[in-house]
Amino acid sequence: MALGTVRMRSGAGLVAPAASGTGPDGPAVGEVTYESLRVRPAHGGRQALAVYDNGWMARLLDRHPGNAEGDWYVDTRCIDCSTCRELAPASFGVGGGQSLVVAQPDDAARATAAWRAALACPTQSIGTVSRQPRPAGLFPQELDGGVYYCGFNSERSFGANAYFVRRPGGNLLIDSPRWTRTLAEPIEARGGVDDVLLTHRDDVADAEKWAAHFGARVWIHADDRHAAPFATDVVSGRGDHEIRPGLTVVPLPGHTQGSVAYVLEERYLFSGDSLAWRALPARENDGPNPAGREPANGGGELGDLVAFRQSCWYSWNEQARSLARLAAGHRFSWVLPGHGGRHGGDPEDLHRRLVDLVDRMGRR
Ligand code: SF4
Repeated sequence: MALGTVRMRSGAGLVAPAASGTGPDGPAVGEVTYESLRVRPAHGGRQALAVYDNGWMARLLDRHPGNAEGDWYVDTRCIDCSTCRELAPASFGVGGGQSLVVAQPDDAARATAAWRAALACPTQSIGTVSRQPRPAGLFPQELDGGVYYCGFNSERSFGANAYFVRRPGGNLLIDSPRWTRTLAEPIEARGGVDDVLLTHRDDVADAEKWAAHFGARVWIHADDRHAAPFATDVVSGRGDHEIRPGLTVVPLPGHTQGSVAYVLEERYLFSGDSLAWRALPARENDGPNPAGREPANGGGELGDLVAFRQSCWYSWNEQARSLARLAAGHRFSWVLPGHGGRHGGDPEDLHRRLVDLVDRMGRR
């Protein structure tokens, strides 16, 4: 059981539970019950605590008024990380700088995708009015033999994706999902984690907890080490290092000074925020944005490799040179980024696209 806060107010599109009393922001102060949600007043009635039976739930009282009518909704705590739109594009879209339900899931496959989005959402903003029971076993989600997407994205990494790899040479966790036993238990059942591989300073999130729980080593580049002082292994310089058999760390300064990618068996590229697949259409706010954190900008059309110039914190030119070195030294058939889309395809096609991307970056 977990605690969360709920602002007790009414508004367009809200489905108000039965309530007693009147508060300064709306009609409801006092103990109210909505299915398995219990709300009780706190702080003189201005806020209330919500107690949920499963430690996870969107805030019905903060339901965004722009959601498509129906059971599924997004609440207004959404930070617009794009995770739900990547996972369930048929159901989630953009509206006013936040994600919304644009179409209610209308078949089993779309409902499963929506559930994955709900579990992955870093602000836990996605829910159902009817409090549908959460299906089990959705994460980790196997993408390819022994390579999994973790889900449970963390707000501390602005909703970055993390990956788990089960392999004879030692299991890997690439970047960090938010810490939760709901994910730790199935990872433990698959042998736990031997090495936590951090791609850069922004995506450290709960890495220390994961490493402590599994007794894992933690890798990061020296130039981003300040973000993970608990790291046990620090790589330095601009050259590749084979840190485990078949596993190479490739320094890619650009997005941050200490950004790296990890190349596993010349098949999987864990690219952090240096390279991604554009799986969503360009957005109306693809240009500069107030938060400066939107990762959806950069060269590349829908269905192509992309780098994020608007989210390049260190050096765009350096990032282009880094990606050129990556193209010269490696082949891979999977791109598995922190932010942005994932993609598996033909390695020669990906190589050609990477060379083209580097060329576009140099011309911008
Ligand atoms: S996953 Fe959550 S925080 Fe991210 S865009 Fe969707 S609703 Fe917003």
